Amino acid sequence: MSAIQSLVVVGGGTAGWMAAAFFAKRFAGTPLNITLVESATIGTIGVGEATVPAMKVFLSDLGIDEREFMLNTQATFKLGIEFDGWNKPNESFFHPFAMFGAKIASIPFHHYWANLRTQQQAGPIDDYSLATQLARSNKFARPKENALDIARFNYAYHFDAGLFANYLSRFSQRQGVTRIEAQISHATRDATTGNISELVLESGEIISGDFFIDCSGFRGLLIEETLHTGYEHWNQWLPCDRAIALPSSSDEQIPSYTRALACSAGWQWRIPLQHRVGNGYVYSSQQISDEQALAELQKNITGTSLAEPKLIHFATGMRRKIWNHNVFALGLASGFLEPLESTSIYMVQTAINTLFTYFPQTQDCATIAQHANHTLAQHNQRLRDFIILHYYLNQRTGEPFWNECQNMTIPESLQARIEEFRYTANLRFDDLDFFQISSWLSLFSGFNLLPTHHHPKVAFFDKQHVIRELADMRSAIQRAVGDLPSHQHFLNPENATNTRRTAQHELPT
Ligand SMILES: Cc1cc2nc3c(=O)[nH]c(=O)nc-3n(C[C@H](O)[C@H](O)[C@H](O)COP(=O)(O)OP(=O)(O)OC[C@H]3O[C@@H](n4cnc5c(N)ncnc54)[C@H](O)[C@@H]3O)c2cc1C
Repeated sequence: MSAIQSLVVVGGGTAGWMAAAFFAKRFAGTPLNITLVESATIGTIGVGEATVPAMKVFLSDLGIDEREFMLNTQATFKLGIEFDGWNKPNESFFHPFAMFGAKIASIPFHHYWANLRTQQQAGPIDDYSLATQLARSNKFARPKENALDIARFNYAYHFDAGLFANYLSRFSQRQGVTRIEAQISHATRDATTGNISELVLESGEIISGDFFIDCSGFRGLLIEETLHTGYEHWNQWLPCDRAIALPSSSDEQIPSYTRALACSAGWQWRIPLQHRVGNGYVYSSQQISDEQALAELQKNITGTSLAEPKLIHFATGMRRKIWNHNVFALGLASGFLEPLESTSIYMVQTAINTLFTYFPQTQDCATIAQHANHTLAQHNQRLRDFIILHYYLNQRTGEPFWNECQNMTIPESLQARIEEFRYTANLRFDDLDFFQISSWLSLFSGFNLLPTHHHPKVAFFDKQHVIRELADMRSAIQRAVGDLPSHQHFLNPENATNTRRTAQHELPT
């Protein structure tokens, strides 16, 4: 058994450079050597540009300044996702990184809101979310700490994936990471332990290491091609298996949210960056051809195309083990959940944190690997269930893709959550859930699934009083939105780099 002295990261996409940056920072001043091997010939996937608020934590853990990061990656702010046509064509709902409304007498908002809503005495749930209203008005401001419930929200970023990897590459190398630009031919295994011992480059050069992080993308050079770990497929619930990506020129207004537009056999993303818009169609190849998908995508794009369309094949699911022998799979090498809720980069971050928690002392790491694998599988399954919900609850008619989604048999874990909400109005979550109460609520309400029951205390409230409270919440939100700058204005370097000016644009508590 030898102590871990050298960590080798295979691949320099988003996952590889996030891992290199994180471990270089966390192990600074220790004898651990970190090397990253990447191949410009193979390149990176080049998509993956919408994030969730956890990215802010990742950047601040590294000590990265938000403004500098945004300038270097052409980033924009993201308040949530607009889902167009998912429930029915011409209907839309918004999933904000935010709370809805406020408690009344310690009863969560959705209990009395749903009660009034079923009697047509409350507005759509969007009316009670400041983040949603900001997004719908193309506005942005940073949330205030310690804000009242109705003013609480969070935000994430859209960024250029290529620029992000370059930025982290420079950061990591400043922290002492060795970067090797080369193509790996194959890896060799120790005959006794089965561990990976060396990478053999196309040039014949050898790179040895004690522990390897496989960030080689879908192929899984170490985790699959070398260790044959196996893959758990989830296509029975998530039928999309292809995507076409096609960037286009920016519109005049830069929205502060991602758009997910339901299409005939899947959905289309629209991710606004400062210098361009990322577009793509995620679809089921069982339902339409690549040519049909491209035509549908092009029809929905505004602006001029900036590159050739890029076709990507994928299989939704996860590796049977994320950590196998002395290899930890990260990013696309570890599995893939389609990008509907921007969860992949978040899972990279979660897996990096998990590996740091369970970081091996020696190459003999089967027991800790088992714990890490269990934790990560649960995280992944929770995300998977949340994404399935988007497909399952649709009420579109006359389209084979969407009809099949309505009729699928969903995982029991998801069925249990739906039933619990439907019959008790309860929304539960724990540490393994990234998506919390407000996220589930935005989906349920977006698909018009309201509980048949609410907390009994709601019946004791004076109804007129509750109606007035809701009206007050709505007005307070509208007033707050009215005073705030457009997202475009907020991003404009002249204003955005001026801290005093930005401070004025913070929300009232
Ligand atoms: C259509 C689509 C849309 C997506 N959208 C989002 C999104 O909005 N939000 C989100 O969070 N995630 C999204 N993702 C996921 C996101 O793109 C990935 O999680 C992220 O980019 C990480 O990719 P990666 O680094 O694992 O792989 P890659 O970017 O594929 O990098 C693989 C690396 O391995 C190297 N490599 C491979 N083989 C060798 C070899 N033999 N020798 C040397 N180097 C090698 C390559 O050169 C490259 O550097 C999306 C994914 C897809 C497919």
